[in-house]
Amino acid sequence: MGSLLADNKKNGQVRITQYTGLPGKQTIAGIDHLLLVLPAKIPAAVWGKIPQGSKVQALMRRKAPGKLPAISTRVNNKRQTALHVGTLDAHASAFEALTFGRKMVAAALSEKAGTIGIWVLGFDTEMQGWIVERVTAAALAAAWSMPAFKSTPRAEKIKGIKIIGLDQAADLSRELAEAEGNNLARWLTALPPNILDATSYVALLRELSKEKGWQFRKYGVRELEKMGAGAFLAVAQGNADDSAAIVRLRYRPGSKTARPVLSLVGKGIIFDTGGTNLKQFMSMLDMHIDMGGSAVAVAILSTITRMRRSEAVDCWLAITENRTGPTAYKSQDVVTALNGKTIQTIHTDAEGRMALADTLVLASKDKPDLIIDYATLTGACMTAITTRYSGVFTNRPHWHPILKRSGRDSGERVWPFPIGGDFMDDLKSDTADLQQCAPNGGGDHILAGSFLNEFVDKKIPWVHVDLSACKHKGGLAHVATDITGFGVRYTMNLLIDKNAFGDADWK
Ligand SMILES: [Zn+2]
Repeated sequence: MGSLLADNKKNGQVRITQYTGLPGKQTIAGIDHLLLVLPAKIPAAVWGKIPQGSKVQALMRRKAPGKLPAISTRVNNKRQTALHVGTLDAHASAFEALTFGRKMVAAALSEKAGTIGIWVLGFDTEMQGWIVERVTAAALAAAWSMPAFKSTPRAEKIKGIKIIGLDQAADLSRELAEAEGNNLARWLTALPPNILDATSYVALLRELSKEKGWQFRKYGVRELEKMGAGAFLAVAQGNADDSAAIVRLRYRPGSKTARPVLSLVGKGIIFDTGGTNLKQFMSMLDMHIDMGGSAVAVAILSTITRMRRSEAVDCWLAITENRTGPTAYKSQDVVTALNGKTIQTIHTDAEGRMALADTLVLASKDKPDLIIDYATLTGACMTAITTRYSGVFTNRPHWHPILKRSGRDSGERVWPFPIGGDFMDDLKSDTADLQQCAPNGGGDHILAGSFLNEFVDKKIPWVHVDLSACKHKGGLAHVATDITGFGVRYTMNLLIDKNAFGDADWK
């Protein structure tokens, strides 16, 4: 096999063309699947603007409530353009608009491959642009092929995107950057664990760094031993070889030695068997996605790079497997983390917090203004908020409303939970500074966040994202695949719209 990255070069490459003003017959005849988006309360003026308006109006009167698309028909032109009409509330949330986009695009994809047209009609100019961005995000997600290693290659479905009937041309640069990030996150997360093992993952990151202009640094097992990264190494010691590593990527648009404004940290467990405390079959089946946090962290760095942001950003990835075997760590081991704290291990399946602990210490050393970590960390978080939301935790609890708002505004929804304080009673240990987790009792997502908090410099604002929405059956928001790539849109909203860059304390 060649380079994973090089083999994937053309994936998702789709041309977007924009047309302003009322579209003529010719423009519509150049489209295979036209998605027409109308407001829930349809103004009478729209019928005269669309092809076969009175027929469409009659069909819309007979539509079944709640169906999406509301109706599907064909335009009487040479191409027999498929027309899918859907209505969207003028006050729709970002999540609703993205979900709407996914369902409309899915209708087009259920037919033959071709050009997708997007026409948002009957809204004011600002809302039109806002909806166009979200439906386009869904089309860009659908244009991306997830990894498939079949002997017959999968045919591309979307041959181009034409956005028509615009009041003014849309600036889609952010949507494109975020789509590229989301696609990268999903693709990396879905790769089979024998193809994306620790060795090939590190090699891929090295190659990606060259392409993106990032500084690349690998901390291998020997070096981490010398440094005293006992928490990460407790997990890595069960591996068949010493391919585990903590990788640091640096985006430096200005001075090469600038202090990072932001450090992204990701959990990269290539495959999680649970370790000595082995998982059951169904719980282990999908554990190649346990590196999803690292994939999202890299994807966000890629999005920031593509948007040519001026801030210096670091990305730290904790890459290892969690395996069984004679050398694997076990309950009641005591290990010393990089910051000198000793940990009494309880359950080997709580390996994510072990691998992240040392990685957070490393990230803290460079004194960034903000650290955000991403991890498919706990089943408890899924129990608490299902796989529709992800959990957020922070050492700055007054940020909870801002963190939640970014979820609402980006369409990647989160819910905040408390950490620390008296929760630490549950992590008290007789033999070490703290326990890795509690042997029983609920709220493991809160305890995991509380545990991680012990490895972040208190002076540095920190947000932990427990990616319970990393995988959601049938897709989530604009993304139609089970693996969602959740986190890119959320973080970009937090960084740019909520101004977490440079104003990290949100006073
Ligand atoms: Zn685990």
